Amino acid sequence: MTNNNNNNFFRNILITLAVLITLILSFNELNLINFNTIKQTAQTNQNIVNSRMTYGRFLEYLDLGWVKQVDLYNNSRNAIIKASSPELGNRPQIIKVEIPVGASQLIQKLKESNIDFDAHAVEQTNLFVNLINNLILPTIFVVLLITFLQNYDELTGGSISSPLNIIKSPAKFKRKPNTGVYFDDIAGIDEAKADFEEIVSFLKEPDRYTLVGAKIPKGILLVGPPGTGKTLLAKAIANEADVPFFSISGSEFVEMFIGVGAARVRNLFNKAAENSPCIIFIDEIDAIGRERGAGVGGGNDEREQTLNQLLTEMDGFKENKGVIVVGATNRADILDRALLRPGRFSRQITVGLPDRLGRINILKVHARNKPLADDVSLVQLANRTPGFSGADLANLLNEAGILSARYNKSSITKNEVIEAADRIIGGIAGTTVEDNKNKKVIAYHEVGHAITGSVLISHDEIEKVTIAPRGNAKGLTWFTPDEDQSLVSRSTLLAQIITALGGRAAEQVIFGYTEITTGASNDIQRVTSLARQIVTRFGMSKIGPIALEDATSGEVFLGGNTGQSTEYSKELVNRIDAEVSEIITYCEGKALQIISDNRVIIDLIVEKLLDVETLDGNEFRQLLSQYTILPDKKMPYVSNFN
Ligand code: ADP
Ligand code: ZN
Repeated sequence: MTNNNNNNFFRNILITLAVLITLILSFNELNLINFNTIKQTAQTNQNIVNSRMTYGRFLEYLDLGWVKQVDLYNNSRNAIIKASSPELGNRPQIIKVEIPVGASQLIQKLKESNIDFDAHAVEQTNLFVNLINNLILPTIFVVLLITFLQNYDELTGGSISSPLNIIKSPAKFKRKPNTGVYFDDIAGIDEAKADFEEIVSFLKEPDRYTLVGAKIPKGILLVGPPGTGKTLLAKAIANEADVPFFSISGSEFVEMFIGVGAARVRNLFNKAAENSPCIIFIDEIDAIGRERGAGVGGGNDEREQTLNQLLTEMDGFKENKGVIVVGATNRADILDRALLRPGRFSRQITVGLPDRLGRINILKVHARNKPLADDVSLVQLANRTPGFSGADLANLLNEAGILSARYNKSSITKNEVIEAADRIIGGIAGTTVEDNKNKKVIAYHEVGHAITGSVLISHDEIEKVTIAPRGNAKGLTWFTPDEDQSLVSRSTLLAQIITALGGRAAEQVIFGYTEITTGASNDIQRVTSLARQIVTRFGMSKIGPIALEDATSGEVFLGGNTGQSTEYSKELVNRIDAEVSEIITYCEGKALQIISDNRVIIDLIVEKLLDVETLDGNEFRQLLSQYTILPDKKMPYVSNFN
């Protein structure tokens, strides 16, 4: 056995080497053109290619007159450009650009702009080399790869299962006892963090909770755009509570072979149960949790089986057993409803893009172990980076660090930080310009809600208004709900409708009727449903206190006590519609009135909001009260409209 092992060992080493060499060769072959040409140009320019940029950016540079020299390669598909200008710093930049197919005007443009340009042919190697490159090497590669995979288990000591063995051993997740992330390393998402602190204390002392019969959710769903810290949060709870952390990505569950995903889910939950208390983290849960039967072409059996298995497993373990499943997604709306039922992912936590203060704090976290020069202001940097996620910000400081190393500086100065920010903004550009215009509309819309809600005495107090996007919402205004919600007055219902219409009203008053946007569609749905309920359910219209809930169309029958059914006449249906429409028109008028009355102060509040992105209720009221006398909402039974 030992002998055999030794032989195997050498054979495996040889195979690994062969695979590596082949890999390098094939890689080099694929990149032959870029690799060599970049090197060439770099030499001729006595410089290195220090970045790449988009074609659009390149055209901008061209228009600005910053482009000094262009070398075209690969049938004009790639270009290495040399750009310089005082704005770009004192040394010329060598930048790689990929040129889209069909950009034929480029040459013309270069001629017109009098730019020194040159086209280089693709290197032609001789037939024999071509043959080796294109035919023989790949064949050897494939053969070796297969041999390699067959020996995978031996090579890795069996600790990692070979991709050919997926069915044999479906375990494919990472178990990390120590994730190295603490709550201190996470900033800018305080609400989500607070929610998690409770879970940590449960994992630390489960008895304290179980004794009093308190239930901790089995499943928590983190919803938010990529890079906002969802994985980070899950890792931090595992670490803070000192429990094992199992992580897997939803897309890894779903394989080509039917049944594999389900087997993996089973395996994962078995492992977790053996190691409880622990955290299971499923990233991209939408890859398995998409609504069943929604797939194109009738179905995706493998995914549905996997999802069903996940549901079964989650139902199978009891609450308070110490296994907490944390799922992450940026699309909660496409998830199968069954996943969100009590006992499964019953708690949802939204993790949004950070606002300005959040960005400052995230930058502080990532600046901790970096030598920042005194001229770097994280506050200014946060001001410049709206729409950046935590990951973007971390990336920004990293890039700045790399740049300062390249310039041989001992600390990161303002220049590098600005350069890095520009690069990243360039990378995510396309949305930013658009965003700036949209941001303004969103700000006016949200401030519209906030102002109407604040001046109406029957409306709840505003708690917070923000234009930092969260989940699917681009902006949000929160109100503190009244403690007692069991009895709701007509004036409160109307105040809710007026406030919901306040967003659209602001768009209309500020930008004009032709410029109103689709941003109000959710508001309008809410308004319509509220107004309809006022008429048909609460009996608060001229039709009187009659339950008309099912009378939404002439074809609906309502079963009465007698067992007879009542058919509503077309006339009654029309009256209901007329009442609903009257209520909405009345409220719309009020909303427009309130916005017009407060027109002067809106710009000021919007300006502030665009700057800080989030205003809490007190800050908002303080700004608004400079201009308007706000009602005392503690006073009962008064309304400022009838
Ligand atoms: P998600 O899971 O939401 O896509 P991650 O948690 O993987 O995002 O974040 C990626 C990286 O971005 C983290 O490792 C961290 O460096 C940085 N990051 C993201 N959000 C934050 C945050 N709120 N605070 C600090 N760093 C963050
Ligand atoms: Zn709205």
